Amino acid sequence: MALRFYVRDWLSASAGVGLLKALSHTGQDPDSIIEGTSLVFEEEDVKDRFPLALARKLTEDLKPETIGDKSLVDVAFARLLSLNDFYSNSPLSNPSSVKKKVMERSKEFEELFSLDPVGAVRQLIGTFVSDVFAELLGRELSDRTCFFCGERKAYLYKGKPKTFEAVNFTPLSASTSTVENFFYNGKNNLYLCAHCEIVFYFAGFGFTKVARDKYLFVYVPDLKETVTLNSLLEDHKGINRGWLGKAVAEILKETERRKAEWILENIYVVEIEKVSESTSNIYSFSIQPRVARAIDAYLDKYPKPLNPLFSQFLEHLYSGRSLYTLLLEVFYGYFYEEGLRRSGRGKVSDALRVGMNLARNSKYLPYSLLFLSKFQEVVDMKDKSQVEKQVNWAYSEGLKLKESLYRELGEKASDRIRSVSYSILEAIRRRDIDAFQQNLIRVYLSVEREIPYLFVEALKDGSFNRIAYAFLVGLNGRGKGEEYGTEAHDPLG
Ligand SMILES: [Zn+2]
Repeated sequence: MALRFYVRDWLSASAGVGLLKALSHTGQDPDSIIEGTSLVFEEEDVKDRFPLALARKLTEDLKPETIGDKSLVDVAFARLLSLNDFYSNSPLSNPSSVKKKVMERSKEFEELFSLDPVGAVRQLIGTFVSDVFAELLGRELSDRTCFFCGERKAYLYKGKPKTFEAVNFTPLSASTSTVENFFYNGKNNLYLCAHCEIVFYFAGFGFTKVARDKYLFVYVPDLKETVTLNSLLEDHKGINRGWLGKAVAEILKETERRKAEWILENIYVVEIEKVSESTSNIYSFSIQPRVARAIDAYLDKYPKPLNPLFSQFLEHLYSGRSLYTLLLEVFYGYFYEEGLRRSGRGKVSDALRVGMNLARNSKYLPYSLLFLSKFQEVVDMKDKSQVEKQVNWAYSEGLKLKESLYRELGEKASDRIRSVSYSILEAIRRRDIDAFQQNLIRVYLSVEREIPYLFVEALKDGSFNRIAYAFLVGLNGRGKGEEYGTEAHDPLG
């Protein structure tokens, strides 16, 4: 009869992912037991394949050299004790009971140990785990239904129905009420059947160890994506630029758009920091809804010229740093290209390089750079249509001024634009609204135009960034004839 384990939250997801990771060591294709949000397997799997998988996972990095002249029992015992980070004093890792049982079983494998030490340790652990699982599965049942599967009965333990407790996932037992709080139901009636208990013993494998006492797990409400994101986490050894870039790209690649958005909005990261033998801190964070909203509104408009910055873009989003700092860096690369190239000091950042390439190749700032600015404004909860209007307006004012300058000064206009741009860039960097306005007045006067009143108005209401950046791009832009990556754009539209 098929048995099911349901994945409903990060804890059951970590157990599911851990089991799948372990099973892959026995040659099983993880996808073969995933069915929607549950894992489906047979009783024989629980008895034979699961213990083998656990033994393999526990010894994946074991080599004959690391065994050296240690005894079979000591090596197997040490590996099992490592489970205590997640299952303190569980039937798999309780120091006193485990040693006795492992010693009893070791005699069968002593001979093999001298020929194939790693194989012998594996088999000993597998046999021991198989004994423990068989013992759990053989216990007398209570009349209480398991909280986790809602299908099987909890067994009797010391005369009472077995419940989910510290041995089943020790990090949650930091305070006595944590387990109850986690499941929002007040008292511990989290009855636990033997099958679910066994799968929970794999939860630790779902986590990636990123520091001495720190473990991470990423959960999204889709089991296959959860598996993918966590294997990327293992590859990248943590939540970092590489991981975020790959993770999001992976989700977008594999999943249809609506679902991809939903998954991105629901990325949930759990960090376990072990403080002592039996206590841990659990931290979690998810992507803020305002960031998710901006992702939803703009991510598919991500422009080509910014492709080399995609992972930095994400890093800024998740760490809460303003995308304007990224845009400012691109500006620096653009305006100081020569100096940067000549000084040739070390490696330049990706953002500087994007700016430098623009200066060298296209020789203008494309409108699509303002994607960063619009995205940031929406993250900051600004009204999307208002933002678009102001950005487009300031951009086209910059363009118009550029045309006036060319009409007035001819070829000399480019030097003038350059020097005005440096001053504006400096005003932007210092967030100096007065300096920005003074420069505007001066340059508008030089072409005998009045400074558009909207500037004065707009700069009053905290719109400085969006106005100033867009104006600078317009002043160095090319207007309707330019390539906008994927979207056509009418600066006045
Ligand atoms: Zn159950």
